[in-house]
Amino acid sequence: MKQLRNTVIRAGLDALYFSGAHHLLRPIFAGVGTIFMLHHVRPRRNAPFQPNHHLEVTPEFLRMILAHVRSRGIDIVTADEMHRRLSQRDFSRRFACFTFDDGYRDNRDFALPAMREYDAPFTVYVANDFANGTGHLWWVALERVIASTERIDSTIGDTAIRLDTRTVEQKQGAFSLIHDLLRGLPDDRDVARELDGLCARYSVDESIISAELCLSWDELKAFATDPLVTIGAHTVSHCNLAKRSEEQALQEITFSRTQIEAVLQRAVVHLAYPYGDRDAAGVREFAMTKAAGFNTAITTRPGMIFPENAEHPTALPRISLNGNYQTARVLPVLTSGAATALWNGFRRVDVT
Ligand SMILES: [Zn+2]
Repeated sequence: MKQLRNTVIRAGLDALYFSGAHHLLRPIFAGVGTIFMLHHVRPRRNAPFQPNHHLEVTPEFLRMILAHVRSRGIDIVTADEMHRRLSQRDFSRRFACFTFDDGYRDNRDFALPAMREYDAPFTVYVANDFANGTGHLWWVALERVIASTERIDSTIGDTAIRLDTRTVEQKQGAFSLIHDLLRGLPDDRDVARELDGLCARYSVDESIISAELCLSWDELKAFATDPLVTIGAHTVSHCNLAKRSEEQALQEITFSRTQIEAVLQRAVVHLAYPYGDRDAAGVREFAMTKAAGFNTAITTRPGMIFPENAEHPTALPRISLNGNYQTARVLPVLTSGAATALWNGFRRVDVT
C-alpha cells in the first residue's frame, strides 16, 4: 500500500493508469475539483525524436477530455471562480479548471477553438520573456541540438559529455541525461549559459524559439480580450524561484505581474510556478505569492483539490494531461466519481 501510494503521488496520472491502480482508486475525482495542466495543444508531428512530447496534446484529445468532463456534469470554471469557491468553501458542485503554462501560440490557434466549442474558460500563464521573444525555452533548444547532430561532445557544469546521438534511442538517452544535468545545476541562469554554448557549437539558433512558439505581447492583447481567457503570471524569465534569492524571486513575481497588467490592462491575480515541483516551489514561494497578493498559485505537484486545499490557495496541485498517454482509457481515471475508503489512506494535501 505504501509503495502504491508513493507511486501514485509521485507520478500522478500516468502511474495511476499504468499501475492499474485506477481500478482501486475510483474516487480520484472524489475531491471537490481538479486543475488540469496543459502546455502545447497542436496536431501531432511526425518527427521520430520528440523528447518534449509529454508537453503537448492534440486538439482532438483536448476535445475528448472536455466532452468527458461535461458529460459528468462537472463545472468548468475560471481561476477566479475556483478562488471564490475555495474562499467561500462552496463545494456544492465539483469543478475543473483548465490551465496552460508558458503562453504558446497554439493555445490561441488550437486550444481556444476547442474550449469555445464547450464554452470552457481557461487560464494561460505567461512568462514575460517568452512574450518579449527573448526567453530561453532551453528544453526545446536541447531537443533541436540533439536532433541536429550524431554526436555530442561537451561539458555540462563539471560533467564531461561524450555521447553518440545517431539513433532515436541514443537521442532520447542523451536528452534525458543532459536534461537532468541541467535541472540539477545550482542556479538556473547556468542552464541558459550551458544551452547558449551547446546551441553555438551545434549551430542551433535558440534566439528564434520563443518568438516562434509563444504569443507576443500584441497577440496576447487580442487573445486576452476573449471572454473565456484569463491571463496569469509565470515569472519574468521562467526561472526556478526556489533557486533565487528572496529578493530576486520577489522581483520575478512582482515585475511579471506589473508588466502583464500594464500591457493587457487587467488585473493579474493568478500565478503558475515555473517547473512547479518540490525543487522549484516550496513553503517560501507559497508565502511569497500570497504576500504579493496573488489569489491562487499552482504547482505541478500531482493531486486533486480537496476542501483542505482552501487553506493553501497558493500551493495548489494539478493533474497533468500528459501527451504520451492520449487515450480514451485515461478518461475514467480523470473523472471517476465513486467513493471508496481507500483514498482516505492517502495524504490529500501536500503543502510543505
Ligand atoms: Zn512553464
